[in-house]
Amino acid sequence: MNTQAANKRIRLIMDLRTKGIVDTDVLSAIERTPREEFVPAHSRDQAWEDMALPIGLGQTISQPLVVAKMSEALEIMDRDMVLEIGTGCGYQCAVLSHLARRVYTIERHKHLSIDAQKRLERLKIRNITAIVADGMKGWPTINGSNPAPFDKIIVTAAARAKPPQALFDQLKIGGKMIIPVGISGDQMLKLYKRESEEAYSVRDILPVRFVPLLPDISDEKNDMI
Ligand code: SAH
Repeated sequence: MNTQAANKRIRLIMDLRTKGIVDTDVLSAIERTPREEFVPAHSRDQAWEDMALPIGLGQTISQPLVVAKMSEALEIMDRDMVLEIGTGCGYQCAVLSHLARRVYTIERHKHLSIDAQKRLERLKIRNITAIVADGMKGWPTINGSNPAPFDKIIVTAAARAKPPQALFDQLKIGGKMIIPVGISGDQMLKLYKRESEEAYSVRDILPVRFVPLLPDISDEKNDMI
């Protein structure tokens, strides 16, 4: 890495600290994840700025501050099994891979998932399992096995009114789920904790702007969102 690139990374980490991120494991996971590998070539210059960027198919790579906030709020332990809904370009997932034991990630756009998987392979990140499916239904049983329930769940697309029930069902008791809830222009990042079989507590974290959580697998020919 040249000095200029190293400086950009350090500036972003300092920026995140100023904005209230204190978890050093999270800051170091962000520092170790080469964000320029996750953005289109023409956006590389902005890769280490604290901003969301378009990644094609109408989707975006989340703002580093939001990635950091979500990761920090989940209090991920190194033995945790994490489920992510909305792989996108794979950036959030790559950050989580440095904090958790394994990350299971679901994307409804086949092209995005394939690109993300290639990218993560190139970066030699091996503790990720990525599939194409409708994440609103939770992790599917494949060949009779299912890693659920998960210690932590992170949803990087916004649910309209409340998180899908299937995701609550796949959360361990004592586990946490972070998810943006609300319609475009009025979304709140919410942190749920499963207190018992039936009971959840919930806390507002930050107003955010995410693309909507959509049902079913995308029909690549007609559906560009
Ligand atoms: N985590 C990504 C951001 C993804 S943007 C990052 O780090 O950059 C949100 C993603 O959620 C989009 O790629 C969108 O296609 C996907 N998505 C929306 N609804 C979904 C669903 N039901 N299941 C799986 N993925 C979904």
